Amino acid sequence: MRTQIPGEMNGNYEETADQVTGHGGLDINRVSKSYKTRNGQVDALKDVSIHARKGSFTALLGPSGCGKSTILRMIADLDSPSSGSILVHGEHPREARLAHHLGVAFQESALLPWKSVEANIRFPLEIAKKPFDKTAVSDLINLVGLKGFEKARPSELSGGMRQRVAIARALAVRPRVLLLDEPFGALDEMTRHKMNVELQRIWGEHSPTTLLVTHSISEAVFLADNVVVLSSRPGQVLKEVEVPFARPRKVELMHTSEFHRTCDYLSSLLFDETPVQGEAQ
Ligand code: ADP
Repeated sequence: MRTQIPGEMNGNYEETADQVTGHGGLDINRVSKSYKTRNGQVDALKDVSIHARKGSFTALLGPSGCGKSTILRMIADLDSPSSGSILVHGEHPREARLAHHLGVAFQESALLPWKSVEANIRFPLEIAKKPFDKTAVSDLINLVGLKGFEKARPSELSGGMRQRVAIARALAVRPRVLLLDEPFGALDEMTRHKMNVELQRIWGEHSPTTLLVTHSISEAVFLADNVVVLSSRPGQVLKEVEVPFARPRKVELMHTSEFHRTCDYLSSLLFDETPVQGEAQ
């Protein structure tokens, strides 16, 4: 199922057997999910298996309604599979949630409007009843580039800044797994590019196992080690594509023909076109 874009390997990406199976990272095993609604049963996902090794970055791409958010919700223990199983670094999602091993940032940052930047970032630590040291919180604020805005309220920040707070908040508990659902979906294209570079830097410092849901093919290719392409509902894994570019990735990467070739290939999978010439089958 895993595909490499041919002719683009740069030699820095060596896979071990463990990385291929993903054991110990994120293991989604033959998960199906159906919802009972007033109009009958909705099959959202069918027999989905995704394995992501510890510390890797995986992007989920697929048409609207194919079950991407459902996958994230099940990992976050906000919903459960109808069949199949999920393990998060070897733990059941419930264990992982209760142990505060998960960090979650969704599109609407849902910051507490009456709390300052600092207090919002501290909040998950209070919930987890974990001691927080001031330096760790200010390190996180520096990490997401919000030094000087510690006392600001969310309403005083731009959309990009609010999303950075949400990411810092998700990282506050030092999660093993970071779940991002369209975190930059509401931002304009330029801010989004900037945020992608920032996110890569932030992720590089902590390297939690990360799963990103996005509609943007270029965002997926820029950020991820692997891109999982899902079919339309019921969502099934169409293909898992390995992204071969070295890190850290610079914005200039987006202007290269190799980058465009990878995006074109993913686009052809998504839109059910004939794969672009020279592409792995
Ligand atoms: P995506 O994130 O890919 O846009 P979702 O995971 O939000 O897709 O939804 C997948 C499918 O499951 C959709 O058809 C959606 O309507 C349905 N669905 C999601 N949550 C529920 C729910 N709580 N009850 C009924 N149907 C749902």
